[in-house]
Amino acid sequence: MSWGLQNLPFFDSQHFTLAEKLQRWIEANRDILGQHPESNFGPYAKEMLGSLSAAGFLDYVLPKASGADVAPPDVRSICIIREALTYESFLADNMFVMQGLGTAPLWQHHDHAMRDAVIEATRQGKRIAAIALTEPDAGSDLASAQTTADLDGDSYVLNGEKCWITNAGIADQYIVVARTGEAPGARGLSAFMVDADTPGLTITPDVPMIAPHPLGSLKFENCRIPANNILGGAGTGFKAAMATFDVFRPSVGAAAVGAARRAMDETIARVKSRRMFGKTMSEMDTVQAKIADMTVETEAAALMVYRAAWASDVLGGRVSRESAMAKLMATEAAGRVIDSAVQLFGGLGVARGSVVEQLYRDIRPTRIYEGASEVQKVVIARATLR
Ligand SMILES: Cc1cc2nc3c(=O)[nH]c(=O)nc-3n(C[C@H](O)[C@H](O)[C@H](O)COP(=O)(O)OP(=O)(O)OC[C@H]3O[C@@H](n4cnc5c(N)ncnc54)[C@H](O)[C@@H]3O)c2cc1C
Repeated sequence: MSWGLQNLPFFDSQHFTLAEKLQRWIEANRDILGQHPESNFGPYAKEMLGSLSAAGFLDYVLPKASGADVAPPDVRSICIIREALTYESFLADNMFVMQGLGTAPLWQHHDHAMRDAVIEATRQGKRIAAIALTEPDAGSDLASAQTTADLDGDSYVLNGEKCWITNAGIADQYIVVARTGEAPGARGLSAFMVDADTPGLTITPDVPMIAPHPLGSLKFENCRIPANNILGGAGTGFKAAMATFDVFRPSVGAAAVGAARRAMDETIARVKSRRMFGKTMSEMDTVQAKIADMTVETEAAALMVYRAAWASDVLGGRVSRESAMAKLMATEAAGRVIDSAVQLFGGLGVARGSVVEQLYRDIRPTRIYEGASEVQKVVIARATLR
C-alpha cells in the first residue's frame, strides 16, 4: 500500500518511520494476515496479538503510564496502523484497536498498580480487552442503559445484559458501563472493570455477523466485583465512553480509508486488464469517471481523518466534532467506493471470496458501530450550532 503521507502536512518523521516499519511487518506476516476464521477466534487472536505486540505496534494503542501521569496515545499513529491493517485484514485491525478501545476508561484509574498491570498485560497481548456499552434496549441511546451496579459493602453487584460486544468470549476483561443512579440518564452511569471469569457473568460468544468478527453477549446476574473496580468515579461512565470515542472515532475513519484504498487498488488492476468492446475498461469514459469519483472520495476521507487525528494530537482538548466528521465522512465514502469496486468487477464482485466482496461485507458495520452515521450528525450539528 502506498500512502503518500509525505505529501500531507499532518505528519512528523516518526510517522514516516512507522509507515515503513508497518510495510516490513506486513510483508513478513502475510500468513497470519491471510487467515480469515469465521468463528472460534481465540487462537487467531492470540497469534495476531502476539505478533502485533512483538513488533511494538500495541505500544501505539496503549498509553505509557507513570504514577499519575498518562501520556495520551498518538492518534495519527493509531490511524496509520489501522489504515494499513484494514488494507490487509479487518480482523487484524479489530485485534489491534480493541486493546486500546477496550481499556481507555481505565487509563486514568486512581489505582495505578491495577491500571499498570492491566495495561502492561494488554500491551503484551497476554490479556484481551473489550468494552461493553450496548444493551438490547440501549444502543445509540447509551444514556438509557439499564444494567445496574449497586454498591454493597466493598463490592458492586451488577445485573443486566449487554449485546453486540466485540471480543465477547475471547476477552479476559470487560469495561462495563452500568447504572449507579447518581442522577437520571447519562449522569447516573459509571464504568467498571470486570474480569471475564467473575462469577455471575455469563458470556454467549460468536454471534455470526455479515463479515467475520468476534462478537457476543454478556449477562450479569448478581455479578459481584470489588468496589475499587469502578473507573473514574461514580456518575462519570458516560463521559468516559464519549472521551474514548473522541480518541478512537477518527481511527474508524482511518480503517475505512484503508479498505477504500484496497478496493481502489484492486479495481485499478482489474479495469486495466479486463477487455470489453475491443478495449480495456480503463479506456472507457464512464469507467474513468467512476475511478475519478472513487479517488476523490478516498483522498477527501483521508484528509478528514488525518485532520481530526492531527487536531487531537497537536491542538489537544475535546475534538468531538472533528472526530465525528472524520468517522461519518470516511465510513460513508468507503461504502460508496467499495460499492463502485464491486460494480466494476461485475459477477466477480459479488462472488463469495473475492477481495472486493469481502470488503463490501467488512465495511458495512463501520457505519453502525461507535455511533451510527446519524449519531455523528447529531454530534456535528450540536457542536456547529453551539
Ligand atoms: C460489528 C459490531 C461491533 C460492535 N462492537 C461493540 C462493542 O465492542 N461494544 C459495544 O458496547 N457495542 C458494540 N457494538 C454495538 C454498536 O455500538 C451498536 O450497534 C450501535 O451503537 C447502534 O445501536 P443499536 O444496534 O442498538 O441500534 P439502534 O440504537 O436501535 O439504532 C438503529 C438505527 O437508528 C438510527 N439512529 C440512531 N440514532 C439516531 C438519531 N439520533 N437520529 C436518527 N436516526 C438514528 C441509525 O440508523 C441506527 O443505525 C457493535 C456493533 C457491531 C455491528
